[in-house]
Amino acid sequence: MPPDPPIAIACDCGESGSVAYGETWQCAKCEKRWNTGQIPREAYERRNRRMRRFRVEILAFGAILLGVFAPLVLFVESRYLFLAIIVGLAWMLLYMPLWRRRVRRAAAEAPRWELHPE
Ligand SMILES: [Zn+2]
Repeated sequence: MPPDPPIAIACDCGESGSVAYGETWQCAKCEKRWNTGQIPREAYERRNRRMRRFRVEILAFGAILLGVFAPLVLFVESRYLFLAIIVGLAWMLLYMPLWRRRVRRAAAEAPRWELHPE
């Protein structure tokens, strides 16, 4: 599993940074301290699970394509390479933009938390 994504913090003064969950980020400009431990763990994990599903989906899809076409091309008939290229192109041109849009929307809908400086 990849490490949990960092949390982006925007300070009152306009500075921003990011830090791992549970850690405290100190603004370089105004020295306020923002503790991400104030975020409920459950809410943070729910957000991560949602984003992780997108990665799993794309990896699984890629693995299936490879698993289907690699043996066909290598062991059955090299003409399948042409079909593999068509499917690969369709995947990149049709599926990937959709996928990226869904990820962007999910990221935009991801919860935001109000932290209180310490
Ligand atoms: Zn600041």
